Amino acid sequence: MKKHNFSAGPSILPQEVLLKASEAVIDYNNTGLSLIEISHRSKDFVDIMEKARALVLELLGLEGKGYKALFLQGGASTQFLMVAMNLLEKRAGYLNTGAWSEKAIKEAQMLDDIYQVASSKDANFNYIPKGYTIPEDYDYFHCTSNNTIVGTQLKSFPNSPIPMVCDMSSDIFSRQLDFSQFGIIYAGAQKNMGPAGTTLVVVKEDILGKVSRKIPSIMDYKKHIGSGSMLNTPPVFAVYTSMLTLEWLKGLGGIAAVEEENEKKARLMYSEIDLNPLFKGFAAKEDRSYMNATFTLENENLKETFESMLKEAGISGVNGHRSVGGYRASMYNALPIDSVKALVEVMSELESKA
Ligand code: PMP
Repeated sequence: MKKHNFSAGPSILPQEVLLKASEAVIDYNNTGLSLIEISHRSKDFVDIMEKARALVLELLGLEGKGYKALFLQGGASTQFLMVAMNLLEKRAGYLNTGAWSEKAIKEAQMLDDIYQVASSKDANFNYIPKGYTIPEDYDYFHCTSNNTIVGTQLKSFPNSPIPMVCDMSSDIFSRQLDFSQFGIIYAGAQKNMGPAGTTLVVVKEDILGKVSRKIPSIMDYKKHIGSGSMLNTPPVFAVYTSMLTLEWLKGLGGIAAVEEENEKKARLMYSEIDLNPLFKGFAAKEDRSYMNATFTLENENLKETFESMLKEAGISGVNGHRSVGGYRASMYNALPIDSVKALVEVMSELESKA
């Protein structure tokens, strides 16, 4: 039986994507060769890469606006450093909304001066700071759109006077935004896009080339752009599977269509958390993530019963991050609303038993 997969990442992908990806591993498009045993310079793979890059810009509404999409390696974690290498000359401003923002700050600090424009560390990152100022003489401003661990999400973005860089690892392609407000968007593939192994970077070309440091080739966005995202051997399977997910998303009706579903799922989940006296939400209500709902069970004595009921219902991956505890229901694009219904049913059944 297929489980209800609430894993925070790597996470659920559409079943049809998994099927097509697995077929390609055996025989890509009736070529008699596996996708993962052909040259990345072959026409077959170059076409896949180009299609994936084009789909990203199309879905984000960034075609013809001076952006390039890259599929790189090293995870979002490598972007923490790469962003700074390519953009940091004197000082940058960072919004600190959780463990991933902190890691981004720590890496960038190795190169130069970082200023935290605001932080919600004082309350274990359970809210998103607001009303801060971004100094206009800094090189860039960095934020994390969705905080995967604590379950908070930026519902709106500041009007940044300097290039805005955003780590969208856990909510890319999940909601409509004016993506042209960002100078760089980056995201590890393994939540809403594909398997682990590739990182999407969308970069506005005209913000590059302004730092005086020498940038090692593999860290240089300009070199990656110049080589069509093929500076070295790309992770062919991860790129292909991501392309399939992007095609699936386009077929659904794009981000607008999936956003509607995501809102329904989140509403269902949070109304159970709020109405059921056994549970308590972790994040401040106005900042709640539509991707990762974090909550605790108020009565520890019910933990065992709850967890065995979850198991019985085929619900997988709802344990909270080790730093927060409790539970976390990750509701990425590919998670069907029926899975959320199944989880909510178990929660309300627990209430009737208690
Ligand atoms: N940023 C965010 C918001 C994340 O959720 C994660 C991973 N869960 C990362 C960065 C790190 O990504 P990676 O493991 O691809 O380096």
